[in-house]
Amino acid sequence: MKMEALLIDIQRGSLNDGPGIRTTFFLKGCPLRCSWCHNPESQKAAPQLSFHRERCTLCGRCREICPARVHRMEPDRASHQVDFEDCLKCGACAAVCPTNAMKVIGRACTPEEAVEIAVKDREFYEQSGGGVTLSGGEPLTQPDFSAAFLSLCQDEMMHTCMETSGYAGKAAVEKVLPYVDLFYFDWKVSTEELAGEYLGVPLAPILENLKLLCRAGKEVVLRCPIIPGVNDREAHFRKILSLLEEFPGIQEAQLLPYHDFGTGKSRNIGRQPSVFPVPSREEKEEWEAWFSQSGAAGAKRVRLAG
Ligand code: SF4
Ligand code: SF4
Repeated sequence: MKMEALLIDIQRGSLNDGPGIRTTFFLKGCPLRCSWCHNPESQKAAPQLSFHRERCTLCGRCREICPARVHRMEPDRASHQVDFEDCLKCGACAAVCPTNAMKVIGRACTPEEAVEIAVKDREFYEQSGGGVTLSGGEPLTQPDFSAAFLSLCQDEMMHTCMETSGYAGKAAVEKVLPYVDLFYFDWKVSTEELAGEYLGVPLAPILENLKLLCRAGKEVVLRCPIIPGVNDREAHFRKILSLLEEFPGIQEAQLLPYHDFGTGKSRNIGRQPSVFPVPSREEKEEWEAWFSQSGAAGAKRVRLAG
């Protein structure tokens, strides 16, 4: 059987998903349900309809062609409602929409096809110290594809990075381990209570996998989204410092201030987003100051990113 993964997007020329200029492949499917997810369309492991209302000119072509009668418009076409649950993901509306307002997210891709795309920018990777990043969604939910793709990338002498929540079985982590040069490993909350409330999964396996990577001597960068009202707390900051102390191999911890890019994307797929306050510059400076005044040796490896 052909090995395929479902991709939501491929971003060439990315500057935020690892060192240098990178091509990032976003897989579809994630076991976590982070309330602040900035890629909510990546959570479901199946194709999904997306509607960009702001692009819709109310021409009515999608309604005429849709076999499932998913589109509703008032006679004056003043409003365009979409019944997402009834969509068959056939793509007919996307094919006729003149403004790309309709899209079915999720396209199948083999490791070989993905590598073919990745090598196109090899020159940029070589000039910038970049490479290929596998992100999501959660790449560890598709370990066979992830291992095969990253192994092919390494055969092509391209640097590989994986962005992961760390939530997966040990077998999945061990399968990809040899083929990942650098892990961007999320550390989102520091207690089981908050993990249950905001991630929808337990924290213990995430910590176990972080230990596994560090003990295997892998290069790891901790990625710490900071969400006002959720984890902008001393206890969480202390835990980040203690991880840096326990695992000297962790290159750095990047603090990622919450942004609300995901809220519009949630609406596009028919979901009501959770909304959190976007941190002000002063708040971000306070976080930085807390770390620099902590006196901890690990604080030198904490950096505000974004
Ligand atoms: S993908 Fe097909 S079923 Fe879904 S809204 Fe478009 S035309 Fe209708
Ligand atoms: S085809 Fe596109 S532009 Fe026309 S009504 Fe449908 S979504 Fe809007």
